[in-house]
Amino acid sequence: QNIWQQKWVIGNWKMNGQLQDNNALVHKLRSLPEHNNVCIGISPPTVYLLQVHQAVQIVLKNKIFTCAQDVSRFAEKGAYTGEVSAEMMKDVGVDIVLIGHSERSLYFNEKNDVQRQKIENVLKVGLIPLLCVGESLKEREDGREKEAVAYQLSVFKGLKTQNFAVAYEPVWAIGTGKVATKEQIADMHQFIYDEILSLCGNDANIRVLYGGSVNDKNAAEIFSVPHVDGALVGGASLKYDSFTAIINAAQ
Ligand code: PGA
Repeated sequence: QNIWQQKWVIGNWKMNGQLQDNNALVHKLRSLPEHNNVCIGISPPTVYLLQVHQAVQIVLKNKIFTCAQDVSRFAEKGAYTGEVSAEMMKDVGVDIVLIGHSERSLYFNEKNDVQRQKIENVLKVGLIPLLCVGESLKEREDGREKEAVAYQLSVFKGLKTQNFAVAYEPVWAIGTGKVATKEQIADMHQFIYDEILSLCGNDANIRVLYGGSVNDKNAAEIFSVPHVDGALVGGASLKYDSFTAIINAAQ
């Protein structure tokens, strides 16, 4: 199945995990039934990317994609202490790279220009960027949520690609247990589709994932919303039972 027609369920581990636990979780995923309509991804901390990539190779029934949580804004190798390039990520088996998670803006003051560079670097080596967008609580309260999301999506303008993956994550819903309503999600996902089509043309492949407190209880309802093409799952992806329940709900 073409991944641009599948539902994506990606577990964003954030700064969690260690060798033994990671292996245990990935190995348990071998017992998942075959999911032809779901693209499953795991996004561990950078230092565990190679481990996860190697571990998912032996998952027989489902392909599991290895996803990075971030990448360097520098494209070429060289004197950039502490940085990891898109090329290196490709080398260790990464498929998808998260760009611009709201925690990157919050703690590292990452802005559109840096996100744009990262997206270009990721595309250049043939990996898939997954851009995270979403309004703050203040922006939602002021009725400026679409303006905020449109500004974040403007990093796509003029990119040389037909493939656009986005995670809509209202900042006020991340890790808070507060989920956007079905109406709010439907409205914003439609808006994101329209924005991408107007920025990038009608033949774009688009996936728009919802993120923010997705769990085993609310996943099915969220997946039933039009234009919800999957979920980016934080906290609930760290436990086998809740992560697999979300994958099952996407099937
Ligand atoms: P959460 O995080 O599921 O723990 O709310 C989602 C995310 O930040 O990607």
